[in-house]
Amino acid sequence: MSNQIVRVAVAAPLRKTLHYRLPERLLTQAQIGSRLRVPLGRRTVVGYLLGFVEDNTISLKEVAEVLDPAPLFGETLVPFFEWAADYYCHPVGEVIRTALPTGLGGAGRQPVILKERFFYLRPLAGRPRGAKQQALVNYLRQHSGATLRQLKDCFGGVYDSLKRLQQQGLVEESHRERQRDPFADLPPGIDVPVELSADQQVALTAIEEALDGGSFCPMLLHGVTGSGKTEVYLRAVQKVLQRGRRALVLVPEIALTPQLVGRFRARFTDRNTRLAVLHSGLSGGERYDSWRAVARGEIDIVIGARSAIFAPLENIGLIVIDEEHDGSYKQGEGFRYHARDLALLRSKMHRATVLLGSATPALTTFYRVQQGQTVYLPLAERILGRPLPEVQLVDLAGQRPEGVLAETLRQALQENFKRGEQSLLLLNRRGFAPFLLCADCGATIRCPNCEIALTYYQKQRLLRCNYCDFALPPPDLCPVCHGCDMPPEGAGTERLEEELATLLPHAVISRMDRDTTSRKGSHQQLIDGMSARRIDVLVGTQMVAKGHDFPGVTLVGVVNADNALNLPDFRAAERTFSLLAQVAGRAGRGKQPGRVLIQTYDPDHYVLKCVVRHDYRSFCAEELSLREMLGYPPFGHLVNCLLAGNDEQRVMVAAEVLARAWRDLAGGMPVEILGPAPCPLSRLRGKWRRQILLKSSSRPALRHLVNHFDGLRKEVRAGVSVFIDVDPMDML
Ligand code: ADP
Ligand code: ZN
Repeated sequence: MSNQIVRVAVAAPLRKTLHYRLPERLLTQAQIGSRLRVPLGRRTVVGYLLGFVEDNTISLKEVAEVLDPAPLFGETLVPFFEWAADYYCHPVGEVIRTALPTGLGGAGRQPVILKERFFYLRPLAGRPRGAKQQALVNYLRQHSGATLRQLKDCFGGVYDSLKRLQQQGLVEESHRERQRDPFADLPPGIDVPVELSADQQVALTAIEEALDGGSFCPMLLHGVTGSGKTEVYLRAVQKVLQRGRRALVLVPEIALTPQLVGRFRARFTDRNTRLAVLHSGLSGGERYDSWRAVARGEIDIVIGARSAIFAPLENIGLIVIDEEHDGSYKQGEGFRYHARDLALLRSKMHRATVLLGSATPALTTFYRVQQGQTVYLPLAERILGRPLPEVQLVDLAGQRPEGVLAETLRQALQENFKRGEQSLLLLNRRGFAPFLLCADCGATIRCPNCEIALTYYQKQRLLRCNYCDFALPPPDLCPVCHGCDMPPEGAGTERLEEELATLLPHAVISRMDRDTTSRKGSHQQLIDGMSARRIDVLVGTQMVAKGHDFPGVTLVGVVNADNALNLPDFRAAERTFSLLAQVAGRAGRGKQPGRVLIQTYDPDHYVLKCVVRHDYRSFCAEELSLREMLGYPPFGHLVNCLLAGNDEQRVMVAAEVLARAWRDLAGGMPVEILGPAPCPLSRLRGKWRRQILLKSSSRPALRHLVNHFDGLRKEVRAGVSVFIDVDPMDML
């Protein structure tokens, strides 16, 4: 019997790690980062080997199996995972399961490792015969071997010649793992070499100094839209590679920001720089391949969305977080982590530089700058001295536009089209109209599963729930009063598209929202259409505000700024400022200056005034003083506890019991316990939802309460699920 004991995090809701004995036959296979199969109670579950330990307990159970040919992560990730588990009060095995490429966490089927035929020269073998053999041998020598596919691509039919070379003893064949191509669906990028602007140069020099300092250094690259942040990222990555270290680059959503990935690919074409992309568009197999290539140390630059923060990259010198304010860095379910916050921690562990980039930094990030905890690198002007667009508010009060566009915006669109320039319109609502409204009794048609009205889609003639996808044809009569007049109320992108078609009958109008981009490649088609100027007007939801660089866009219109401002969430102002500044930033990036028109009923709102002046700082000052008064982040910390279940009564009781227990426990601690209260979306996908919000300026106090929850778990009755969200971003 072997005496080797391992510490294992099991992929189950268990806060602590467990010890197992490693049987003789697995001694050589099992390493830190190996995925295992281990017994747990009566089941076998997947576990992750975190370390080798001493333990004299006789009755330890044995590891049943080692699941992968090589470990999935190295030793340096172990403390990172454990710290993240502790910070987010989440079981460490679940943390690791979330971190690994999908399909690897559970006990499910494993992605297949593809193999391919690989040919290489035997040393000191004889001479090739004939020109074809000579060419093949030269190629194999130059490239230190090649796969059959590479040779076929180069020389056409080569199989017979290769076989003869093998028979002559010049060439040897083996099988090599074949990497699926993670770039297969991404367009190749273009890279134009530029000379850095003065601001860019200052930023880059500061970054180089930080890299040479070799210690943890967080930096904020605060560059207005179009100031050339990407160029700074590219150079910074080059610099870190030159210093023999590696780079991790996070972007909000790869599918929505293909231009940035394209520029990295185009810049780092050098054969010795190996780039991997980890994103959700990859198949399970592709992600598995890329992941293991990173784990084997074969990759220098990893680009990916949120989950790439867990990439098993060693020797990281730089982490770049592009659009660091973006909400998609927060995972909304399961292990609810924030990739930017984890990036800060990971860089601390790697003694790396972390470069956060944004035109509209998160308030928490800017506050750290003010506190002297983050180096500030401003890019105050657009590249080549191009002006920021002129922003103008269109007051809707007193106006009664026929459709959704006021006269000012209609005229501007017409003139822009006449000049042959492109326009972009933001309306953050999908479908034709947010709901049907009975003209007689005022009833709307609600989703049977969610506390929300059904959206009307005219082209499909459907009412659909944007949360659970429940759909039904629109009824002829009002289900409440049997009235026969239920017109669509309000407007979504589909209606706006229709209105534009009437306004500009000769223009090419396209729509970008979740409904038009669900097909593979459809989003890219829209981007290409905009870049090639085939599209005159692009209408869409917030997707159109993402970091696109379309130099032909000179007019941006925002149909309604008030929707976002009025959401019941203390971050509504921050999100709105960011969204408006970002979408405004799409205008006038090329040679022609840009113009932005924002429709609103509330032109005196401080958020809108700051957007008009491109005044991030005043917005920040105003918003931070509000937050300080209310004790919201960054001045206080939040933990949201969400309870959900099919039975409303049970959820209510559980929430009351839990809140009372926490109040008892918190006596004397600097913690505020708010609620329980119904969530703004009080019912979602059939589940009733309540929340308890814990607020405190002391993280340890919050963690103390949350960690006690395991002891309180028995108080929560069956049929009610409890979700803990540390630093919640979304409390709807
Ligand atoms: P941001 O991300 O800050 O909005 P980008 O990085 O997309 O801005 O840059 C905007 C445009 O300016 C891009 O087309 C880019 O190629 C170009 N650009 C960046 N830096 C320079 C420079 N130093 N000289 C000329 N053009 C530049
Ligand atoms: Zn629904």
